[in-house]
Amino acid sequence: MSEVLWERMKAHELRDLAAKNAVVIVPVASIEQHGPHLPTMTDTRIGREIAVRAARRASPKRVVVVTPVVWCGLSEHHMSFGGTITLSPETFQRVLRDVVGALVRLGFHDILLSNSHGGNHIAMQHAAETLSIELRATIIATTYLREAAEAITPLLDDQAGVHHACEAETSMMLALEPDLVDASALDRLATPADPPLLLAGKASFRWRPFSGATRNGVIGNPARATAAKGESLLDAIAGALADLVTDGANWANPHAPSNEFRGADRSNRG
Ligand SMILES: [Zn+2]
Repeated sequence: MSEVLWERMKAHELRDLAAKNAVVIVPVASIEQHGPHLPTMTDTRIGREIAVRAARRASPKRVVVVTPVVWCGLSEHHMSFGGTITLSPETFQRVLRDVVGALVRLGFHDILLSNSHGGNHIAMQHAAETLSIELRATIIATTYLREAAEAITPLLDDQAGVHHACEAETSMMLALEPDLVDASALDRLATPADPPLLLAGKASFRWRPFSGATRNGVIGNPARATAAKGESLLDAIAGALADLVTDGANWANPHAPSNEFRGADRSNRG
């Protein structure tokens, strides 16, 4: 199996990958509380795993390399539970800017920012927009629980998508790090799977700490988790990310003349 991890390669091997127009996956995650039963690295561990599996699945069609995880994300809303390290929004943008800027300086220009923490989602879209314009690269920001939603939902018994320290995340951690999952009290941790965490009105946003939605840091029912389910989830999610990477249309150069505003052609507005 060919190597996909950036940190395991030599500099000259990475220069070769840039010359081959490899896609770089930058996993972006968090270190934050995940209830009383999962370790704080849950999003970081899952994010790394799905990036590596996606890179291997994509490799027959497209060369892909995975950087180390940007492990610190936007987790202010989890701070009150302890165990959580967060960046400020300004620092988060600057970290992404410098990491992606370095990749572009090295000759890479197709970059996938692959997010595994819900709190990073909107900020990463913002980063993809500003950095695509500033660095003239093609930057895709994805959050796996959205990109792979169609594949995830049929695999779950108790919830329609990924929540927090829930059936889905606990299953994936049982598959990846069974020794770090405290399974002794899973049946006492369930909380409603669709609390109104970030909503106001019908479709409006307000900030709230996570403790406003859950007493124990869990959203969902981790008692429904199994390692087999976790393996199926990781596989399905990696497949969705591999499809994202290998579809050439996704990497069309946004700065090519054909994509620029076409004067009188009003059908292209939007
Ligand atoms: Zn998580």
